[in-house]
Amino acid sequence: MQHKNFKNIDKVTYGRGSFAQLGETVEPIRKENNKYFVYVVDNYFKGKELVNRLQNKPEDLIYFIDVDPHEPTTELIDSLRDEILAKKGLPSGVIGIGGGSIMDIAKALSLMLTNEGSSTLYQGLNLIKKAGIYHLGVPTISGTGAEVSMTAVLTGPEKKLGLKCDWTVFNQVILDPELIASVPTDWWFYTGMDTYIHCIESESGIRNNAFSLAYGETALKLCREVYLGDKAGQTPENDDKLMVASLMGGLSLTYSEVGVCHSLSYGLSKIHGTRHCYANCIIFQHLGDIYGAAHTEFMEMIKKHNIVLPQNLSKDWDDATLTAMAQVSLNLPFMWHHAFGDDWQKTVNLEYIKNLFRRM
Ligand code: NAD
Ligand code: ZN
Repeated sequence: MQHKNFKNIDKVTYGRGSFAQLGETVEPIRKENNKYFVYVVDNYFKGKELVNRLQNKPEDLIYFIDVDPHEPTTELIDSLRDEILAKKGLPSGVIGIGGGSIMDIAKALSLMLTNEGSSTLYQGLNLIKKAGIYHLGVPTISGTGAEVSMTAVLTGPEKKLGLKCDWTVFNQVILDPELIASVPTDWWFYTGMDTYIHCIESESGIRNNAFSLAYGETALKLCREVYLGDKAGQTPENDDKLMVASLMGGLSLTYSEVGVCHSLSYGLSKIHGTRHCYANCIIFQHLGDIYGAAHTEFMEMIKKHNIVLPQNLSKDWDDATLTAMAQVSLNLPFMWHHAFGDDWQKTVNLEYIKNLFRRM
């Protein structure tokens, strides 16, 4: 078995109010290249008080980017890159402030500022030719683990696939739990459940190991306190925990693997455009026979927070649609292998996956 060799984030600042340290954190990097920073900020924050706390300098470029309803595209990255280079040349670094979508935009932009041609050329593993520039992530919604992962997921004309390599990983993240306080309850739930599902899938499969378990068990404990404990709910104390859980859940799956829910989730998202965390919740509610006690616990959390997930979606999916969805999922054999072991192909085939989708 090939053991994973993972490039981690270089530096992490954590704590309430730590966003105030952004300026001093990037100051030593300002001398690099053309001595200015590019900020990519979730459009949600436009006109909000956070904009007064960006600690930008007059020479910096600030882009507010709307991540609804579309996830980041190769076209967006290419045109942003061309515009930035034409305006001011190579920046010192890229600072991303937002959710998983903005984290991916910042990571991809950092790479594409130094790699020629369209980002579509680099969708895949280790296709990037040169190191990108310094990039720093400030997550404002917790769950996907995009702040720690080595991929920047982009939707292109042909593929939805990440720019995946060691250089994708952030040089620095600033985890300030104050920034996630404004997340709407439904998104707080879906994104937190992405972390929960990362940990459950990571531990229930053959690639599980003491290293992934150590992160996964800690993240699961935190998720349980946030979503099920006596003090469950969207409180400052729980935001402190959720931010750490997201990071640790990401590390757990990095050293292990995700499983059935994520494999199906890619099928649902690719064909119907369903957002990642929401898609996972829609699917996980139907995986009781596969994830047992974790599924029971997930349903308790749904009930506790009055979350209503869509039902009977499959009534609108004809055979061709189901086949297309199942084909996307079947193309992720490493997830099925992790979930069902070496003999996974005895259980899992196109028809098996279509039947899982028929439950939805
Ligand atoms: P997101 O970034 O798409 O944001 C979801 C919504 O929350 C948006 O409407 C956004 O404007 C809003 N929002 C963000 N912060 C907020 C705040 N503090 N207050 C109020 N609203 C806020 O959400 P996400 O689920 O974190 O990210 C999904 C994206 O992440 C997808 O594009 C997916 O492909 C990607 N992803 C990447 C990885 C990875 O490892 N790179 C892993 C999973 C998912
Ligand atoms: Zn996920």
